[in-house]
Amino acid sequence: MWGAIEHLGRDERTRGYLRDAWSPADLELRRWFGQEAARRGLDLREDRNGNLWAWWGDPSARPGVVTGSHLDSVRQGGAFDGPLGVVSAFAALDLLRARDFRPGRPLGIACFTDEEGARFGVPCVGSRLLTGILDPDRARALKDDEGDSLAEVLRGAGRDPGGLGRDEETLRHIGVFVELHVEQGQDLVHRDAQVGVASAIWPHGRWRFDFHGQANHAGTTRLADRDDPMLPFARTVLHARQAAERNGVLATFGKARVSPNNANAVPGLVTAWLDARGGDEVAVRELVEELSDFSGAEVTVESWTPVVDFDAVLRERVAAAAGGAVAAGKAAGNVAGNVAAAGSAPVLPTGAGHDAGILASAGVPSAMVFVRNPTGISHSPEEHADRADCHAGVTALAAVVEDLCGN
Ligand SMILES: [Zn+2]
Repeated sequence: MWGAIEHLGRDERTRGYLRDAWSPADLELRRWFGQEAARRGLDLREDRNGNLWAWWGDPSARPGVVTGSHLDSVRQGGAFDGPLGVVSAFAALDLLRARDFRPGRPLGIACFTDEEGARFGVPCVGSRLLTGILDPDRARALKDDEGDSLAEVLRGAGRDPGGLGRDEETLRHIGVFVELHVEQGQDLVHRDAQVGVASAIWPHGRWRFDFHGQANHAGTTRLADRDDPMLPFARTVLHARQAAERNGVLATFGKARVSPNNANAVPGLVTAWLDARGGDEVAVRELVEELSDFSGAEVTVESWTPVVDFDAVLRERVAAAAGGAVAAGKAAGNVAGNVAAAGSAPVLPTGAGHDAGILASAGVPSAMVFVRNPTGISHSPEEHADRADCHAGVTALAAVVEDLCGN
């Protein structure tokens, strides 16, 4: 499966991925998802918001156990963020079928649309629309860098943007959701564990800062006569770093747009995006407030997700099943016939947002399984997970699904 998709949307110069939602690469990945579902005799459905569901069993009869992730990427992203969860879901199903497992309830594999928000600026669009957290009118009006709205892009892809919005029928099908994901940090390296389970997702958000000025000639406009928005922007970036250190949170200006963007012109407008997150919600909010006041810019909230604590009972159950499966796998590989005592997988918080977090915040019992990332690097072509750890992830996910499908 990995070999079938690893070239899709890859920039061969940088080896980074360009898998914007609804781009040709994304459409090909969606087709691939449909083929993998068909190969296994699963029932493929696309909901009104563009999320894909491949079902083994009929979820309208009884809510199912769903696993999966997303296939889109950040720009110049890595291969694992998203696709590892989808590929592992299919692989876990294969593993269970090879053991003659018959699920006691429907089993679904999900691919959420536009998780990264690379194109339209809002992350987790598919799951936010599904749960009603994102207003469909606002979603339809979102624009990409070309000025095309999401509504236009959806129509271009043969979809009906009028159908966007909270989808009760699809939500009723999800009894529980488990997302496997490459770790975006090095906690598991430090704990010497292949697989872990999420405790919580930090509160996080994105804010757009518009610094207004007056575009003018770089050679003929005296310094004293300039209204240069690059200066308050630069001051704000430096201030963000200090304020983040003081508040014990993270603040990043990772994207900026300069208009008119000429080397020989004083800019007339600088638009920059602040990403802020941290363990303490109040500290994150205070940082954004402080920066808004300090910057003098026009500030717009593009997204905000409060802290998400994953269901504690489900988390313990997932940690036990995942940890047991990985320990048994290791023992079988090392000392045949002498299975080590099965400990629970470690439980860790994450600063990254995920569709599982959106579903959890909307009341859907959800959990996450993380696979070790040796460098911790993510959202970069260097993102990686060793093959053995990916296999441990599949083993763990299969055990979790088996346990959850049992009743
Ligand atoms: Zn992801």
